[in-house]
Amino acid sequence: MTGPGIEGGALVVEDFERVAPPLTDRTAAFWTSGADGLLRIARCQDCGRYLHPPRPVCSACQGRGVAFTPVSGRGTVWSWTVNRYGWVPSMPPPYLVADVELVEQPGLRLLTNLVDCPAAEVYVGLPVQVCFARAGEAYIPLFRPEAGNAQGRPEAGNAQGRPEAGNAQGRPEAGGGDQR
Ligand SMILES: [Zn+2]
Repeated sequence: MTGPGIEGGALVVEDFERVAPPLTDRTAAFWTSGADGLLRIARCQDCGRYLHPPRPVCSACQGRGVAFTPVSGRGTVWSWTVNRYGWVPSMPPPYLVADVELVEQPGLRLLTNLVDCPAAEVYVGLPVQVCFARAGEAYIPLFRPEAGNAQGRPEAGNAQGRPEAGNAQGRPEAGGGDQR
């Protein structure tokens, strides 16, 4: 079912189903990388530049020796927002959408979701660590606050486990507003 190494905490079990991304020749290695708990990013073997989204030719040196390389999985929140709209029927809002910049290279960013983190605790520059959610054959990279900050994270199966939408800051809920 799952590869070795991911059971120890890198695999997130959610109470909804994510849409599986299409696996193409160019992207399959990225989407399935998390099977062993590691994030892999396409990297030019000639000049060392990471390339995301994956592409077959290096944008820096035009080298064609591009290979998926394990990275630390560590990064920081570069920008983020609370999505309150039901874009994906199987994925109930609200949830946190973020651009995470990996520590390996300035500008190396992944569009992702933040999990195990209330919106009130997110800030630009927040250190985060990769984790993965299964979707079909894919392991979708997600991010959560780095260890030390994750003790309070909700366990799988807790229906209330999704991040609250900024309640602590008094922002109005979509369609709500009768809490006073
Ligand atoms: Zn290169």
